Amino acid sequence: MGTKGRAILEEFGVDIGGLIDMLNRALADEWLAYYQYWIGAKVAVGVPREAVVAELTQHAADELRHAGLVADRIIQLGGTPVLDPKEWQGLTNCGYDKPEDPDVRKILDQNIKGEQCAIGVYKKIMDHTRDKDHVTFDMALKILEDEIEHEEDLEAIKEDIAVMLKRS
Ligand code: FE
Ligand code: FE
Ligand code: MG
Repeated sequence: MGTKGRAILEEFGVDIGGLIDMLNRALADEWLAYYQYWIGAKVAVGVPREAVVAELTQHAADELRHAGLVADRIIQLGGTPVLDPKEWQGLTNCGYDKPEDPDVRKILDQNIKGEQCAIGVYKKIMDHTRDKDHVTFDMALKILEDEIEHEEDLEAIKEDIAVMLKRS
């Protein structure tokens, strides 16, 4: 990273190495979340399948975009984004829930759990950088806004399913 960019962070007492580690764990989370959504959209069965597939596919694209934002920030900080997918499982905060049961309700529950974990991860990054590293803080806030929307989108589909089941 640029000399001045690093200097201002050090002035504010940011542990840049620790922050890079935190961001690499978030990067592993984003890639695993991306794949969990992407493969979930492929295998999902049940009602409402089309709405679920559309939402999962859109969320997969968002997670991939988040991975790009996080990787770019790691590079700006002078770090190296995790280079080997084999390391994702060791780094992840939120893990990977394989959609063994393709029932849309099960897949929704797995992804809601993932979003709730992601919300916690970005909240933590914000707490860690607040008033010290505004660039990382702003990035984490933007991603957090998406993760909050993701959680709500999935919960809304679950509510629709509950209404539908009550009527039938
Ligand atoms: Fe994400
Ligand atoms: Fe998300
Ligand atoms: Mg959505």
